[in-house]
Amino acid sequence: MVRSVASVCCYCGTGCGVLVEAGGDRVLAVRGDPDHPSSRGALCSKGRALADTVRRDEARVLRAQWRPKRGRQLQPLQLPDALDMAADRLADTLARHGPDAIGFYLSGQLLTEDYAAFNKLARALVGTNHIDTNSRLCMSSAVTGYKQTLGADAPPACYEDLDLADTVLIAGSNMAYAHPVLFRRLEAARALRPEMKVVVVDPRRTDTAAMADLHLAIAPGTDVALFHAMLNVMVWDGLVDADYMERHTTGFAGLKARIHEFTPRAAQDVCGVPAQDIIQAARWFGQSRAALSLYTMGLNQSSSGTAKNAALIHLHLATGQIGRPGAGPFSLTGQPNAMGGREAGGMATLLPGHRDPSDPAHRAEVAALWGVDALPVEPGLPAVAMFDAVLEGRIKVLWIAATNPAQSMPDQARVRAALEKAEFVIVQEAFAGTETLAYADLVLPAATWPEKDGTVTNSERRISRVRAAVPPPGDALPDWRLACEVARRLAARVAPEKAALFSYVGESEIFAEHARMTAGRDLDYSALDYAVLEAMGPRQWPYRPNGDSVARLYADGRFATQDGRARFVDVPYVPVAEPVSAQYPLRLTTGRLRDHWHTMARTGLSLGLTRHVEEPWLSLNPSDMTRMGLASGTLARIRSRRGGVVLPVRDDASVRPGHAFLPMHWGGAFMAGQGVNALTNPVCDPQSHQPELKHAAVAVAAAGLP
Ligand code: SF4
Repeated sequence: MVRSVASVCCYCGTGCGVLVEAGGDRVLAVRGDPDHPSSRGALCSKGRALADTVRRDEARVLRAQWRPKRGRQLQPLQLPDALDMAADRLADTLARHGPDAIGFYLSGQLLTEDYAAFNKLARALVGTNHIDTNSRLCMSSAVTGYKQTLGADAPPACYEDLDLADTVLIAGSNMAYAHPVLFRRLEAARALRPEMKVVVVDPRRTDTAAMADLHLAIAPGTDVALFHAMLNVMVWDGLVDADYMERHTTGFAGLKARIHEFTPRAAQDVCGVPAQDIIQAARWFGQSRAALSLYTMGLNQSSSGTAKNAALIHLHLATGQIGRPGAGPFSLTGQPNAMGGREAGGMATLLPGHRDPSDPAHRAEVAALWGVDALPVEPGLPAVAMFDAVLEGRIKVLWIAATNPAQSMPDQARVRAALEKAEFVIVQEAFAGTETLAYADLVLPAATWPEKDGTVTNSERRISRVRAAVPPPGDALPDWRLACEVARRLAARVAPEKAALFSYVGESEIFAEHARMTAGRDLDYSALDYAVLEAMGPRQWPYRPNGDSVARLYADGRFATQDGRARFVDVPYVPVAEPVSAQYPLRLTTGRLRDHWHTMARTGLSLGLTRHVEEPWLSLNPSDMTRMGLASGTLARIRSRRGGVVLPVRDDASVRPGHAFLPMHWGGAFMAGQGVNALTNPVCDPQSHQPELKHAAVAVAAAGLP
């Protein structure tokens, strides 16, 4: 009998609802769920191909495995023995080196319940704050940008605002590829209201930029100069809302002198776009009845990501374009549950309920809610620093879940060296083809979509149920269950009184505990549980006990700061960390393709998706190709200060002269075991700790030439 199970797509943070048709242990088809309020039945090519990616064969990690010795093959292991082995190694490391010799590296692919279980394991049992996630590579600059200016990590807008905006500023986002369903919604809104203006800020002429009324093809990393110049124009033109600023913000006086330096002419010199275009963009924004900004990795994956986010949010605060229909700054989340991971506090810099681990009162609150005496005080290490600590021998045991850092972290050679240096690496994984498995000492078989139950939160703060449609194959278990099984065994060895902390009977119990921890916080959804989600469908936070969700934040002009006022922050423009030089003369940017996701662990299983683009290539402007004597399709060697790869090159007029573009997905056989991150720069934003994946200085030469 065929059953239809309502769930959510497991790729991007749009969070489209899906109906999974299953028979026995097979997924027969996946289609859009017309009742899901975020997507209303729409799916993109990746969502439509989900059924192709559900496997129960050797493409999956079906059993636990261990490696008796480095350099040897992985050997099968009974799952209970593997769980005991993990607990033994953790207990031994705790005894010999203490809690901060253990690190957890998680993923925005995990469900909120998985995050909650791992977070409790790391902080309440092991006693370390060394828990971070690949969401650090994704949205952490958006988090710090929101907190600096608005007081809380809370995207203020909702998807309906795409239908209602008059001016849409898309910055650092190729949403035609990365958030296709939202892009199509925007296209549909524009078709209905041709007066809508779309401005795209992107160094490349992407498919998103191609639909813009105005494309500002800025030099990588110069966004702060651009946004300051736009604000400067708005001030000179009298387009700011002085009354709104007076009543609801602070700090503009401190920023004013800064933005005066950025005349359109000065910004033209920095950003490489005509002053007249900057003036036009500012006027459309400032004169608009409702201006919406959509932004993602182009702002976030930067050594000045927090400043870029803040400078963009300033445009909204200065014009009062926030908290109203069609208006507001709106970060588009990369991963399906980066938001839920933040809510559960599964990051070194967060605690559950958007609390702060450096705040003693917050630590005490969480300890009381978990029923433990205290939480660790020593700061946790964010992703890049965590792998550095492994390389330096300070972290001895690393537990990696649902992510592929050997391929996805910047400066791949350094990360791989760290994985080799670790005393013990646990890799909890569903897919058998990831590069990180080569470094595993112990492999735990994980269930994945569509075998798991739980919840995710999408970009518009909407919490949806993810439902299992088929059982996991082999010995695979949900991630939270693997974490709890090891936690109970570890507790038996080191703190028997804490074993009960991990005795959940199911996902709903974890969610209920997690939701209670949001009480009184900005995101409060303590009145939400699985029964409410079952009865009412996906809900946005904050969620009131009377059943109301809040679609738009700050409608009353009261922000989440102590004094209720939003803050202008005097952020300087700081260039990219690695300038081009005679030796490395090209600016490399990286990005997504339409039909692949991250390192292709899942999308690589779909023939249809793979056919769209079958191999990676480096895009160069035709003038650079001619200058370098390169022909389209020939192999070139691309080098940065950290490593090199060999790839075909293509002439591509969408890339500016002096620039180069590489898709982020491929590695392994296509690139002699390397990936794009052999080239990228691990330098991080000092506040968000997000690495500058969007820019590296590189050299390109025909393969065979030195
Ligand atoms: Fe999935 Fe994102 Fe595509 Fe929606 S837009 S179907 S969430 S990949």
